[in-house]
Amino acid sequence: MSDAILVINAGSSSIKFSLYRNGGTPVLSSKGQIEGIAVAPHFQACGPNGTQLAERRWTDPALSHRELFRHLLDWIESHLDGSTLTVAGHRVVHGGTRYSAPMVVTPEVLAELTTLIPLAPLHQPHNLAPIRALAELHPGLAQVACFDTAFHRTNPAVVQTYGLPRELTDEGIRRYGFHGLSYDYIAHRLTEIAPELAKKRVAVAHLGSGASMCAIKNGASVTSTMGFSTLDGLVMGTRTGALDPGVVLYLMQSKGYGAKEIETLLYKRSGLLGVSGISNDMRILMDSDDPRAAEAVDLFIHRIARETGSLAAAMEGLDAFVFTAGIGEHSPPLRSRICNSLAWMGIALDEGANQADQTRISRADSPVAVFVIPTDEEAMIARHSCRAIQKTL
Ligand code: ADP
Repeated sequence: MSDAILVINAGSSSIKFSLYRNGGTPVLSSKGQIEGIAVAPHFQACGPNGTQLAERRWTDPALSHRELFRHLLDWIESHLDGSTLTVAGHRVVHGGTRYSAPMVVTPEVLAELTTLIPLAPLHQPHNLAPIRALAELHPGLAQVACFDTAFHRTNPAVVQTYGLPRELTDEGIRRYGFHGLSYDYIAHRLTEIAPELAKKRVAVAHLGSGASMCAIKNGASVTSTMGFSTLDGLVMGTRTGALDPGVVLYLMQSKGYGAKEIETLLYKRSGLLGVSGISNDMRILMDSDDPRAAEAVDLFIHRIARETGSLAAAMEGLDAFVFTAGIGEHSPPLRSRICNSLAWMGIALDEGANQADQTRISRADSPVAVFVIPTDEEAMIARHSCRAIQKTL
């Protein structure tokens, strides 16, 4: 009988799952999600090649995360095809300063992760809820927490520090960085695709609805564009990216904004959506003739170009650049514009390779090699989870 690995990625309005068979390396057997939680819950599951296996809608928006998670688990358990669930791996946004690697969840670990909720109030509670639910529904099942922050624990102290009084740094107000599971995956893939370059200085641009960049030197994170929260750095779908904190003071003092309004503004009403006034979806903006859509796209590119300079400064040079996530993987015109704005740094794009979505899209003589590498955070969680429980055996 083979082993099955369950990967859970739970957010405020969705619970995503991926199920893997463990035959040495994890192989995807099905994946799916419940979306629209608290509005119109909708479950879908599909096989590894995208064929739909199940679908269900609920009319009752009051169904709790917990009840919906139970439905999800029932479906998963009836689709194990004879294999045994041996571990559940969870995406957990925050591991604080302590966790630099995935952790097998014990009551003590769970208690400590709960204390980190104030550092990521929009994500951490939703990440931890299925861990608790599974502990009750499946007592004895090994669970592993995989952190978005862990990959960046290699950042030097100076990178992690804000110019704030020391006591605030000591209590945890520091730069953590996120999207670590994606960067970890890309760093591993690069050792397979271009082993020599993987040992050098690489800038990775994770351009999804959340977007950030990471400087990776010899496989380890040196710095990244997100900081204390997932707001900093690049302009994103609905998040501001880097913003002078003076703006927040102004909103509070001169316009009477409260904390909730500021939170909604910074996380939900800004970014591509706020600047364009049209959409947070890059495809819609790229297809639009509205000058506001063009301005939003220009700003997105400008910030990526600036941050690339900043990452290169932190690594003292640049040998490779990687595009990943929704926009990075699927938009040749955007990749083209970003690469052209970085020509001065030694990026020479092969436009044919770019249009054809090839893995290497720079010219053979380009001083900086450019790649498109699809990310797979779930696969990374599955691998980490297997390894973490093997260590405890
Ligand atoms: P998430 O952060 O939600 O996981 P994804 O990595 O799936 O996000 O990326 C979502 C983003 O990718 C959306 O803004 C979407 O518009 C963008 N995207 C997907 N396909 C394309 C495309 N062909 N061209 C431009 N943008 C795209």
